[in-house]
Amino acid sequence: MNEEDLICIICPTSCTLRVCKELSGSLRVEGALCPKGVEYAIREVNDPRRVVISVVKVVGGDLPTVSVKTSKPVPKKCIPEIMKATASIELKAPVEIGQVVIRDICGVDVIATRRVKKVNSIYLFKL
Ligand code: SF4
Repeated sequence: MNEEDLICIICPTSCTLRVCKELSGSLRVEGALCPKGVEYAIREVNDPRRVVISVVKVVGGDLPTVSVKTSKPVPKKCIPEIMKATASIELKAPVEIGQVVIRDICGVDVIATRRVKKVNSIYLFKL
């Protein structure tokens, strides 16, 4: 029988969960104060997923980068691919909240989570 200990991240109670894999292959979850914790533990053992948060470079904006996140949690194994993709692109300002910056990667979109305004790039230099 295999055991794995987890902390439930569904609510601030942060229950300590123990997932036991029975010889029959079924999973038993101990320590959860509610069914959401049982669901979380089983998903975490069978198919762990995360929302990926990153930044993307912006040209011509009032900020040099924009924060982005995946539209849904993705399998943990997809995280490197998504991080590589966000590091390799450059957006042109303006960028709006909710704008899709990468479409359909690992079955989700990557969207902007803040606004970057366009700025005028005219500077006068006096020598
Ligand atoms: S098991 Fe239920 S009560 Fe405990 S942390 Fe998870 S969601 Fe909260």
